[in-house]
Amino acid sequence: MDKFQNLIAGQWTGSDDHLININPSDTNDIIGEYAKGTAAQASDAIEAAHQAFADWRHSSIQHRSDCLDAIGNEILARKDELGRLLAREEGKTLPEGIGEATRAGQIFKFFAGEALRIAGETLQSVRPGIDVEVFRQPVGPIAIITPWNFPIAIPAWKIAPALAFGNTVVFKPAELVPGSAWALAEIISRAGLPNGVFNMIIGEGAEIGEPLLHDQRIKAVSFTGSTKTGAIVAEACSGRNARYQLEMGGKNPLIVLNDCDLDNAVNCAIQGAYFSTGQRCTASSRLIVEAKIHDQFVEKVRLGIDDLIVDHALADGTQIGPVVDHAQLEKNLRYIEIGKGEGAQLLTGGETIERSTPGFFQKPALFVATDDTMRINREEIFGPVASVIKVDDFDQAIAVANNTSFGLSAGICTNSLRSASRFKSEIEAGMVMVNAPTAGVDYHVPFGGTKGSSFGPREQGGYAKDFYTVVKTAYTNP
Ligand code: ADP
Repeated sequence: MDKFQNLIAGQWTGSDDHLININPSDTNDIIGEYAKGTAAQASDAIEAAHQAFADWRHSSIQHRSDCLDAIGNEILARKDELGRLLAREEGKTLPEGIGEATRAGQIFKFFAGEALRIAGETLQSVRPGIDVEVFRQPVGPIAIITPWNFPIAIPAWKIAPALAFGNTVVFKPAELVPGSAWALAEIISRAGLPNGVFNMIIGEGAEIGEPLLHDQRIKAVSFTGSTKTGAIVAEACSGRNARYQLEMGGKNPLIVLNDCDLDNAVNCAIQGAYFSTGQRCTASSRLIVEAKIHDQFVEKVRLGIDDLIVDHALADGTQIGPVVDHAQLEKNLRYIEIGKGEGAQLLTGGETIERSTPGFFQKPALFVATDDTMRINREEIFGPVASVIKVDDFDQAIAVANNTSFGLSAGICTNSLRSASRFKSEIEAGMVMVNAPTAGVDYHVPFGGTKGSSFGPREQGGYAKDFYTVVKTAYTNP
């Protein structure tokens, strides 16, 4: 079996313990054995990032840009291979895996440009004879903690801006998907960065998290994952004045109004709710549908679900890959029972299905006759499960859509410009989509939510610099 190590201070470093990376489409397929880092090794990685920061913070922006560009070019050149690895370890379909790898490459190339555009401001002082400048500096060593659902794109959209703006990094990927993380780290290790600027440590959340969250040498933490872990990150960082940024769950609504293009609405619902096996924080898990179009919409979505091809992520024609692991599958099945117990009607799907390989396959599920008090409409499931909430009119649709503790993404299907405008203004979400699925975003514009979904400055695009730089104001009396 292939064995993979962690990157600490420029050295590939082993460990006594290992994580076994298993293909969720075929549990007989072992992808590799990954060194399970220890808290002491995490501390070594932090020290390396701390030492390397002294010089890297003053590195030339051309050098940073060239390194990021080289990383982006290699990812793009190897997108098919990386996409296949990603699909194999996480269960996205091969086209989705290749799409995600491509996105990661584009992100590095975008930030190769951003490294050259670290602009400041010059203002007049209110005091005669004084010059005022506002400029941006790196924050310091940054801990990057990522989840399993986008194993290369989320690390990319945190690591690239961190390095572009002169920070050093300790990257802790999710335990379930060390393969894509390792492949990314290996590419980064050959891009021309000085030793210690980028470190990666695979391991268990609580063990590696402890030093990353509490060590004073870590000046900021960028986290994407569960609400529960997000609260741990927030408490640790706010307690010691470290900067932090959280991206957590969603319970994203897609509103379908009577005047919509029905086929597009059905497509948005199926894409948004079930593609990537519903394992996206931007997935549309609540379909809020106006009464007149409800029955037609529901019937078309049901037919669409029944046609979806659920199979091995790497098989030709697969549209929905497996659930990521046994624990997540159990959780999905539990929520199917919870929904039924709450009185929701399971119209189709929800059951596990057998394929030619042993994997965690589940038929996408659609609940109808649900309301916004039900747990299936309040708690993030993170699987291929969506529910329909019937509403009387647009006002009720907005009220129901906003009746959630989350606020990441939200969509509306309508042909009314007036409704679309009102929706964009009144919906409580960080990203709003009109006649488009709630999932599916660009990489050069801000990503993030409101309410319980996110905390801190936005990720991605030009706004990323708000987290990865510190603003300094200089007064000069020349
Ligand atoms: P998920 O349910 O998506 O796995 P988690 O929040 O458990 O979400 O995991 C997201 C990331 O947070 C993973 O890299 C995981 O290892 C890490 N993590 C889990 N627990 C902790 C913790 N106590 N401190 C720091 N990181 C943690």
